[in-house]
Amino acid sequence: MKYFDGHNDVLLKLHLEENINPVHEFYNGNNFCQIDYPKIIKSNFSGGFFAIFVPDSKPDNDFFNRMNKDRYDFPLPNQISSKFAYESTMNMIDILKDIENSSKNEIKICKSGKELDYCIKNNKVGIILHIEGAECIDKDFNSLDTLYNLGLRSIGIVWSRNNIFASGVPFSFPSSPDRGAGLTKIGIELVKLCDERNILLDLSHINQKGFYDVANTSTKPLIATHSNAHFITKHSRNLTDDQLNAIKSSNGIVGINFATAFLRKDGKMLEECALTNITDHLEHLLKILGEDRVAIGSDFDGAIVPKEIKDLSGIINLENYLFNQGYSKKLIEKIFYKNWLNFLVQNLI
Ligand SMILES: [Zn+2]
Repeated sequence: MKYFDGHNDVLLKLHLEENINPVHEFYNGNNFCQIDYPKIIKSNFSGGFFAIFVPDSKPDNDFFNRMNKDRYDFPLPNQISSKFAYESTMNMIDILKDIENSSKNEIKICKSGKELDYCIKNNKVGIILHIEGAECIDKDFNSLDTLYNLGLRSIGIVWSRNNIFASGVPFSFPSSPDRGAGLTKIGIELVKLCDERNILLDLSHINQKGFYDVANTSTKPLIATHSNAHFITKHSRNLTDDQLNAIKSSNGIVGINFATAFLRKDGKMLEECALTNITDHLEHLLKILGEDRVAIGSDFDGAIVPKEIKDLSGIINLENYLFNQGYSKKLIEKIFYKNWLNFLVQNLI
């Protein structure tokens, strides 16, 4: 079955790994990325949102281990400068363009839902360029159109870190997502500029006040590319039923996240995570959002995922699991790619 994914961080992995040629690693396959070309072929991957995320100068290698306590409440990381974010973002866009250019037309950065539809129908890989945290956009928005012209079509206003536009939701368990202030004045401005350009706004890492500020400012459907149900796992990164209802009434969409800290009921980031945790979240999302508004945003290359999935090539294990649990082929197709595709054809114009 085809599969379209709402969120991955493979570009960051390729950007951070030292002494490698990112394009060679991507095409030859490797053991440090959950997504590469051999795994794309094996899984019948149709594409997805490819995120560009800029960590502070030193990535925190112990981060996931510290999510294995019974409770945790991490302070938000330090803010980063617009200049540093812009340079790193351009580097990751270059990696993606090099991958596209070396693909013999098999991989394409799509600037509209129509282009994505063409790619998926013709068995090509369609990529939506996404930034996770808008730090690379300066306060005068000069870089917004530069990035748009390079193919940027989706923005997470914040990652779990504050910036000049909004406040991120911390990684906390157990915790409500109601943490900190809402959008700033220029954050509201950014929402309006994105609406004008049909740039999608992803709410996965924004705190609750910011979420509702976007809901009250934007005229577009609300999107959470990689978030789960707070009703099932009381993690600050998950969406409350009120938020899910707001997404539903805006005709929005949610991609279920495989990060085990957001799936497991105890909030721990461990690879031991039975697939029934995914169906628990899935059932709750389906109950509130209906069959047409639930999709997947795996967080491959940005999280620990259930060991029965492990990487992109393991998506077939989830397909088989859902089928064995009695999900119809029609519903699995919707969750695996048709809901994202329909949503993007309608909204990415
Ligand atoms: Zn994320």
